[in-house]
Amino acid sequence: MLKVENLKKAFGKNEVLTGIDGVVNSGQVIVVIGPSGGGKSTFLRCLNLLENPTSGKIAFEGQDLTQLPEKKLDDIREKMGMVFQSFNLFSNMNVMDNLTLAPKRVKGEDEAQAQKKALELLERVGLAEKKDAFPESLSGGQQQRVAIARALAMDPDVMLFDEPTSALDPEMVGEVLKVMQDLAHSGMTMVVVTHEMGFARQVADEVWFMDGGDIAEKGTPEQIFEHPQNERTKDFLSRIL
Ligand code: ADP
Ligand code: MG
Repeated sequence: MLKVENLKKAFGKNEVLTGIDGVVNSGQVIVVIGPSGGGKSTFLRCLNLLENPTSGKIAFEGQDLTQLPEKKLDDIREKMGMVFQSFNLFSNMNVMDNLTLAPKRVKGEDEAQAQKKALELLERVGLAEKKDAFPESLSGGQQQRVAIARALAMDPDVMLFDEPTSALDPEMVGEVLKVMQDLAHSGMTMVVVTHEMGFARQVADEVWFMDGGDIAEKGTPEQIFEHPQNERTKDFLSRIL
């Protein structure tokens, strides 16, 4: 589904991504871990061209995104849902409108169709009874679950998560991870940046350890957590586990 080749990104003289290679197959869950400042967010933002790579290739469903004109990119971005640390809901709209806005505007769905799907998604994240609520009346965990449902409302082929639980109070982390775990089990292709090592162990097909702008090591959760080979991986894990 996604194939990244020698992806580089510099901000001025600061080389933030120094040559990333990786493949994400359909239905796979990739969890990206690593120290702060290592380039994880920049990598995710490059994947859907929120950030323009300096060089390298990003093939998505067979098309090299770095070669596509901006107009075509909008179609591609619709197929990549993104969930951020800060929930970014539209604060002036209730939950239902948050979910139906883009499907109506961008995909041309009619009101009834968009609402039906939105309700199904809200049920899936356990928030159907909050459909008329405004974001400010919801807890952080609830807002993040709405944000996930909103991304899913566009029927994406892949979901990108950038530290989706980092801004939450500890007691709300579990409910969001549960939604993500259910999504993974439903077969969604996912790339998840997180510091939640329990989630990585349980849900990842592959863990990518990213540090200093490249992926130092990739492997199954067992390989990475029980038998890391790279000194940088070992050092990072020894500090957090
Ligand atoms: P991580 O998500 O792993 O913490 P980031 O991708 O956020 O890492 O950041 C990696 C590096 O890129 C940092 O040194 C950061 O300062 C730099 N960086 C990120 N975004 C920008 C930007 N828009 N302009 C300049 N530098 C940036
Ligand atoms: Mg980050």
